[in-house]
Amino acid sequence: MNETWYQDNNTSHFKNDYTVQDQSKCDVLIIGAGLAGLSLLYHLTNGGVKALLLESNSIASGASGRNGGFCLSGWAQDYDVLLKYLDINAVRELESIASLGVSWMRNKCMQKEYKGSFLGDGVLNCYLTGKVDNIKRQNQLKNTKLGIDDKFISKENIKKIISSDKYLCAIKKENAFHFHPLNFMNSLAHFWN
Ligand SMILES: Cc1cc2nc3c(=O)[nH]c(=O)nc-3n(C[C@H](O)[C@H](O)[C@H](O)COP(=O)(O)OP(=O)(O)OC[C@H]3O[C@@H](n4cnc5c(N)ncnc54)[C@H](O)[C@@H]3O)c2cc1C
Repeated sequence: MNETWYQDNNTSHFKNDYTVQDQSKCDVLIIGAGLAGLSLLYHLTNGGVKALLLESNSIASGASGRNGGFCLSGWAQDYDVLLKYLDINAVRELESIASLGVSWMRNKCMQKEYKGSFLGDGVLNCYLTGKVDNIKRQNQLKNTKLGIDDKFISKENIKKIISSDKYLCAIKKENAFHFHPLNFMNSLAHFWN
């Protein structure tokens, strides 16, 4: 029994025997093989930049290998907050950048080299409190403004998806998905070999 469910169900392992030499040279030095460091290394290397990544532990040993595994478009601030500071076109642009990131992840997870990375389609955001009509209206508004198609799910229909009657309603993000972060990160690291 390991520390996390992901470690228990880890099917993709990455072993690196490379040791940094005193004379090692690079254009960019990246510290930390989490999602940030590893994807940066991937993109820089593909773009022809000589980058070196240093990890003190193992691939995805931090938050990146033990998170919720939800891959969905969005930013640290919700879109209604962003709309207070940016115009609608800028917010749409941000949504399209975020969606591109989700598509990139999805494509990767579906490749045979990333076996065990894709766990399931869609992410449900369930509400325990709040006014259902309001949640439904806000979702419609957001869909229209951002050109997306998040589905409103009534209490009755939630029960068809999860065995709980605790929630008032839910919003299903159709283009989101659940992935296995540890398998994904180990697979991503293999491009390096
Ligand atoms: C409980 C939890 C659930 C989450 N759920 C989700 C989710 O469902 N969906 C989502 O998108 N995000 C989620 N997140 C956020 C996401 O996991 C993090 O934003 C992301 O993993 C951060 O990646 P990172 O590469 O910046 O950091 P990390 O993954 O923490 O990587 C940092 C790496 O740097 C290494 N390191 C540190 N110091 C040094 C050093 N001096 N020298 C060499 N190496 C070093 C560490 O060993 C580690 O491997 C969640 C986070 C947590 C904590």
